[in-house]
Amino acid sequence: MTDAVPAETAAGGLENLLSEDRRFPPTLEFAEQANAHGDLYAWAAADRPDFWADQARELLTWSTPFTQVLDWSNAPFARWFADGTLNAAYNAVDRHVEAGRGDRVALHFEGEGGDTRTLTYADLQREVAKAANALVALGVGTGDRVAIYLPMIPEAVVAMLACARIGAPHSVVFGGFSAEALHARILDAEAKLVVTADGGFRRGAPSALKPAVDEALGKSETTVEHVLVVKRTGQDVAWTEGRDVWWSDAVDGASDQHEPVALEAEHPLFILYTSGTTGKPKGIFHTTGGYLTQAAYTHLNVFDLKPETDVYWCTADIGWVTGHSYVVYGPLVNGATQVIYEGTPDTPHRGRWWEIVQKYKVSILYTAPTAIRTCMKWGEEIPAQFDLSSLRVLGSVGEPINPEAWMWYRRVIGGDKAPIVDTWWQTETGAIMISPLPGVTETKPGSAQVPLPGIAADVVDDDAHPVPNGSGGYLVLTEPWPSMLRGIWGDPDRYVDTYWSRFKGLYFAGDGAKKDADGDIWLLGRVDDVMNVSGHRLSTTEIESALVSHPWVAEAAVVGASDDTTGQAVVAFVILRGDAAGGDKSADEVQTELRNHVAKEIGPIAKPRQILVVPELPKTRSGKIMRRLLRDVAEHRQVGDATTLADSSVMDLIAQGLAAPA
Ligand code: ATP
Ligand code: MG
Repeated sequence: MTDAVPAETAAGGLENLLSEDRRFPPTLEFAEQANAHGDLYAWAAADRPDFWADQARELLTWSTPFTQVLDWSNAPFARWFADGTLNAAYNAVDRHVEAGRGDRVALHFEGEGGDTRTLTYADLQREVAKAANALVALGVGTGDRVAIYLPMIPEAVVAMLACARIGAPHSVVFGGFSAEALHARILDAEAKLVVTADGGFRRGAPSALKPAVDEALGKSETTVEHVLVVKRTGQDVAWTEGRDVWWSDAVDGASDQHEPVALEAEHPLFILYTSGTTGKPKGIFHTTGGYLTQAAYTHLNVFDLKPETDVYWCTADIGWVTGHSYVVYGPLVNGATQVIYEGTPDTPHRGRWWEIVQKYKVSILYTAPTAIRTCMKWGEEIPAQFDLSSLRVLGSVGEPINPEAWMWYRRVIGGDKAPIVDTWWQTETGAIMISPLPGVTETKPGSAQVPLPGIAADVVDDDAHPVPNGSGGYLVLTEPWPSMLRGIWGDPDRYVDTYWSRFKGLYFAGDGAKKDADGDIWLLGRVDDVMNVSGHRLSTTEIESALVSHPWVAEAAVVGASDDTTGQAVVAFVILRGDAAGGDKSADEVQTELRNHVAKEIGPIAKPRQILVVPELPKTRSGKIMRRLLRDVAEHRQVGDATTLADSSVMDLIAQGLAAPA
């Protein structure tokens, strides 16, 4: 359980307040069959570039084998495997068919309304080849950018791979984003073509997409020549003759023979804009060889994938980097069978995800803490109605997972046996960087723990000195890695400024972290969100985790609001659990109980000045809490840019709730 421990503060670092001593060693049974072994760490440390070269040769098929490994002479601009050539779509699809695995299911698609489609690797090969031919016929060539604005339907995967097949970098824009966000991303990437759909299904109703494309393209002159439109919902759509083309007209009749283009390893594979949790989204771009190597390597080892027998499901949308690396590229390069689901977890009922796990016998599930906390809020009797015994590995990504949410995930979803991998990474890192290895690592609830074999990370103080165990500071990456971003699209200076200027020679991730007594890494939230209370630097994550450890609380978000006496004061926003006793308490009772709970778990310094019960929290589409908007509320300011919010009505709900008398 959690106890208060004396704060140890490194110079300028974060105080390290919450302690967690539950431990879960791997079972012998799991360890014996695991892909990963402990000796990977020593192998990788002995010669890091050489280790990655071995992975690149083993996991990928190269058209021209590389002889160069890492070129860091123009740091921080890296080149990996630069004299090799390959094709990402060939690696993800064709080579499995050529190896006689064409009948293996690649995608089990589940539509929100219950419609399903199954695509084998052979089906996928034909669809991707046809789509590639269609793109070429519409004038898209190697190097041209294609914007993809689609729901989670098989065509989304097909469109991405068709782009990869011809070497046209894709820029996927989340289907829930506004016309304005889409317009900005189309302009920034100078896209030549947009792939979209009439609409998709969300919360039981068709939700239109094409009108947003029309609006985006109407805002200003753009480089877009064609809009390729998938028919999904059958909604009426406006049509611009000469520009708009139905997917079925362009793709269905196209030839299913297409030669994948052999591309240099450093050819850009995609551009993806970060989720904008802290500010203006950045157009992160990734290249081909290094990115695919690390996506495949991490997917195989972190999830212990057995492609012949596992059914893998990552709940991320393709609009997020997790959907790129762990729906499209990692799993398909590894020949996995996976589920993709179009809709929301509560449509038509709150057991929908668990019904899908039961139906397809999902064995590996990768999701986000926000989803786990939402299920906690709904109550464990819902997953209890389904057979989840097929699950053998559980993953988490996107935010720090609070220890209580971790425990719930393990017990309720994982049947108290499936190892949990808490994976830290970013759009910028391209693939998982810090995570336990199942079967190897003794796990700790709430900690991402160790850099993967081949990855070098540290926690440093203001002067870039590594902090001692037991202290907090800034998370940095100390060596280049294959799937690292190659820059910010069109803005090399911003790349250097944002990531490489804070600490000389180190990649600054923007996250606070601490090392525990064993040297394991705990993520403590964004550096931008760190609070300074009477000179103590406190982590949002630790206080939120303390709140979530109270049985009444399902979710919590904590911000620092300016305060006349303490500089900043802690203000907490909480959502109460549906099945807990807190529901019928008055706001005053909740506030007193939870303030005392935080004081007991962490210490009086962390006690929130104010605790506000809210029905929802503002989140990005990838499920991350947008604390800067809550800070605006706590400081009674006009709420700032909320364009990347998943649900823009949330801020109104919060404002109304706060205005109403308690
Ligand atoms: P922006 O950079 O535009 O604000 P973003 O950082 O939310 O957007 P992503 O690249 O999707 O965009 O998110 C990466 C961030 O998510 C990490 O820097 C970290 O703050 C958080 N994160 C991801 N996984 C974990 C994890 N397992 N534990 C803790 N934090 C995590
Ligand atoms: Mg970020």
